[in-house]
Amino acid sequence: MIEVKQLVKKYGDHLAVDHLDFQMEAGKIYGFLGPNGAGKSTTMNIMTGYLGATSGEVIVDGHDILKEPEEAKKHIGYLPEIPPLYTDMTVMEYLKFAAELKGIPKEQREDALEEAMQLTKLSEVGHRLIKNLSKGYRQRVGFAQAILGFPDIIILDEPTVGLDPKQIIEIRELIRGLAKKHTVILSTHILAEAREVCDEILIISKGKLVASDTPEHLELLMNGAEMVEIETKAQPETVRTILSNMHGIRTITTETIGEGEPQEKTTLAKMEVEEGQDIREAVFYAFAKSEYPLLMLKTSKASLEEIFIELTQGEEEHEHAGNL
Ligand code: ADP
Ligand code: MG
Repeated sequence: MIEVKQLVKKYGDHLAVDHLDFQMEAGKIYGFLGPNGAGKSTTMNIMTGYLGATSGEVIVDGHDILKEPEEAKKHIGYLPEIPPLYTDMTVMEYLKFAAELKGIPKEQREDALEEAMQLTKLSEVGHRLIKNLSKGYRQRVGFAQAILGFPDIIILDEPTVGLDPKQIIEIRELIRGLAKKHTVILSTHILAEAREVCDEILIISKGKLVASDTPEHLELLMNGAEMVEIETKAQPETVRTILSNMHGIRTITTETIGEGEPQEKTTLAKMEVEEGQDIREAVFYAFAKSEYPLLMLKTSKASLEEIFIELTQGEEEHEHAGNL
């Protein structure tokens, strides 16, 4: 249905999309999840033919979006981050205009309009000027425009931003309803939203794809990670040396706490432990033997949030946390 191959977008020297590679099947809801600036909007703008790529390919239903944009665009409905609404038009005038632009045949326009307005619960405000509508209603107008004529693929850039909780629930229900017949791709920087709505999550960080899986599987992977945290007066390098021969530790991150003289500082170390391993006793004896008392020792589970942050944090932050 959609194939993205080695997609690259540079703004000057800045690599906003860094060799993205993925495929999407029909009838599923896909989520682009990533922090602000990750490259979600840029990727969506390229996938929908609104922005050229520096290199790479996007194939939509067999058509190259860069080489045959007209043909490929027929299969796509798009709600951009900032929908280009003509606020001096009424809802109906605007949607009629959008239907024309999309090339929906004249005899089908009326039905397409009615269906889209009904689904987005806009029927009652059809004759109101867009500029007099609330943020929630305006977002629905953008949404109605995206689903006009029900294209195979519906792409929504942060569709719930700025809406109140009730409106968010409505939009999410609408999205789930659409997925019965259409492929839906949405972007979000909210983990809970991706988890709740999407069949597949693509985590994007600094223009790169860092994970791609079902929410259930991602969660399993994440909950499997057991952590052991310790605090000690030993220096980070000493902590690593003491732990270096211990079995069952996957990764170690260290952080120095406190200011002033070296003897006033302590080290907080977090260890990711292999499944089913309990290293607490071994850690206790190893530090006792080296005559570095432990000031604290506890276990914790890595939360979905923590893993998301770990997956999407930059190289700079990793350097502060010590070498992995
Ligand atoms: P997201 O939608 O995930 O928040 P964007 O795709 O909007 O991310 O942006 C990705 C990166 O590209 C950011 O670092 C952003 O500052 C940069 N960027 C986006 N649009 C432009 C542009 N028109 N000119 C220069 N840099 C841009
Ligand atoms: Mg964006």
